[in-house]
Amino acid sequence: MTTGEIKALDAANVMQTYARFDAAIDHGCGSTLYSPEGKEFIDFTSGIGVNSLGYGNAGWADAVYAQARKLQHISNLYYSEPYAKLAAKLVERTGMADVFFANSGAESNEGAIKLARKYSFDKYGKGRSDIVTLRQSFHGRTVTTLAATGQDVFHNYFFPFTEGFSFAVANDFESVKNACTAGTCAVMFELIQGEGGVLPLDREFVRQVAEFCAEKDMLLIVDEVQTGVGRTGTLFAFQQYGIKPDVVTFAKGIAGGLPFGGFMASEKCRSVLNAGTHATTFGGNPVCAAAAYEVLSQIDDKLLEGVAEKGRYIKGEVMSWGLPCVAGVRGLGLMLGIALKGIVPKDTAQKCVERGLLILTAGSDALRLLPPLVITYEEIDKGLTILKSVLSQA
Ligand SMILES: *Cc1c(COP(=O)(O)O)cnc(C)c1O
Repeated sequence: MTTGEIKALDAANVMQTYARFDAAIDHGCGSTLYSPEGKEFIDFTSGIGVNSLGYGNAGWADAVYAQARKLQHISNLYYSEPYAKLAAKLVERTGMADVFFANSGAESNEGAIKLARKYSFDKYGKGRSDIVTLRQSFHGRTVTTLAATGQDVFHNYFFPFTEGFSFAVANDFESVKNACTAGTCAVMFELIQGEGGVLPLDREFVRQVAEFCAEKDMLLIVDEVQTGVGRTGTLFAFQQYGIKPDVVTFAKGIAGGLPFGGFMASEKCRSVLNAGTHATTFGGNPVCAAAAYEVLSQIDDKLLEGVAEKGRYIKGEVMSWGLPCVAGVRGLGLMLGIALKGIVPKDTAQKCVERGLLILTAGSDALRLLPPLVITYEEIDKGLTILKSVLSQA
């Protein structure tokens, strides 16, 4: 089918919930994508931080194919090897105690919220169920994770939202302290707010909140749905912040393109979620788990050092252009936000797409870069050349 034919089918048959860019993608290789007509695009998006290993990765494709041939699903009523091996690897590389597998970021955060509420219920009884999150945060699109999201634009239409969420200001410890009450069971945040604008939290703020949570026996939930799985230059971002969270959620990049996610918890939360308290039909799916195991195997120290290095390179290049419409570059590793001045991010992104570069936006002022972790310097340079020419004409 041509791009035009696909667009017509979409318009006629699909709920129009997405403001799509004017491009259809047919296939890819490395970090380069192609439309049905063969137009080339450099990928600075990875989907949205999903395709960690790019496109056509042989190890990943072989792992998916071999598991699909062997056993594609069996339900959580039975044991199977792929999720068990994956859980062991996650525990080994993070120091967390155990894992629950889910299918998306929102669902993983829902599970973490349930865990925090039950931890508190088991220990203190009813009435200690509130969760403090941050302004500008994003935690998902279910009714509960929308309630957890600290942006008013998401609190519309779908009333009533789940009760028990309040918001504090990022990088303002006093604000977190003031938001917490005797009814608070957890604090939840992203270490770099992704959708909110690629806004990193300060180390000192994070350390203070972690200490405060430990002192009050409130769980610290870190939403690593976007920052996790090598994105920031360490396997999980918390490993660069010198903290030990009680719960860490993950999704997006974990299975290299298949829908998968989950949450890990620390030793003190062990057995909070016991038989019958939490479940999902697809959770721990063998094909997704095999894909995730391969993703983790390829994300070794050398690849992680490369992610950090490529991030520094992109920051340096963009700043070296000295363009008046670039206010700065934020973020860590290959999770970068280019803050714009006087131009609209979405318009800029659309112009990039026209010239063969896929790029995301975040918050009100930023372009967001989440390229595959395996992107080559040649592909980075091609993408940056397009970006520079678009921004130079702004
Ligand atoms: C994308 C995202 C989510 C939601 O993930 P879905 O898979 O879309 O449900 C939650 N939290 C953060 C930080 C995200 O970036």
